[in-house]
Amino acid sequence: MEKVFQIAIDGPSGAGKSTIAKELAKALCIDYIDTGAMYRAVAYKMLQKRIDLSEKDAIKVMLKNTDINFSKGETVLDGKVISDQIRTPEISRLASTVSALTEVREKLVASQRDMGSTKSVIMDGRDIGTNVFPKAKYKFFLTASVEERARRRWQELKEKGQPMDLSQVVADIEERDRNDSMRVLNPLRKAEDAVVLDTTGFSIEEVTAFILKMIN
Ligand code: C5P
Repeated sequence: MEKVFQIAIDGPSGAGKSTIAKELAKALCIDYIDTGAMYRAVAYKMLQKRIDLSEKDAIKVMLKNTDINFSKGETVLDGKVISDQIRTPEISRLASTVSALTEVREKLVASQRDMGSTKSVIMDGRDIGTNVFPKAKYKFFLTASVEERARRRWQELKEKGQPMDLSQVVADIEERDRNDSMRVLNPLRKAEDAVVLDTTGFSIEEVTAFILKMIN
């Protein structure tokens, strides 16, 4: 294997990207970068600072003074761990809206390219194989039926003590799918050379093992 290489994992919400990417990073001893967490962190900060989507200048100033990175599996915003705070349905919805803003994408994409150009990484998101690292050595597009993705999210929320109606989770996932694939800037798309994996009915272990076999 080359010294520095990237693995891009894209796909819609709830397809299992982050769980699988974490397992792969562990197995390959490389860093995992959760780009969705970066959009969530920006959404969280805008909410905290009460900055509206229409306030372009305030958003630009805020982004200039924002530092997002990862440490020991935690998401760190301006020096504070915010991993749990950004996993709420409210932040999920807001992140999807915020991620369509040019200013936000420019800043985060530049930062993601920085993070993945000097060391090997596995990065998951919506536009990694098409835009952030179009020359990534390995590209996967993970998907699963809406019902299965919603059921996984519903289970996750229940385990975290944030129960929701399954029908609401389905509606949220459909809405995010629509936002993410319809936006003008770097929409959710499969890269032409990405391997598509439909994870419906497969376990995390099965998908991880399959990807590892393809890489090794
Ligand atoms: O992956 P996750 O659900 O945490 O991502 C939250 C939101 O961030 C997504 O709904 C999407 O709108 C946005 N996102 C993006 N580009 C990425 C990763 C996430 O637009 N590379």
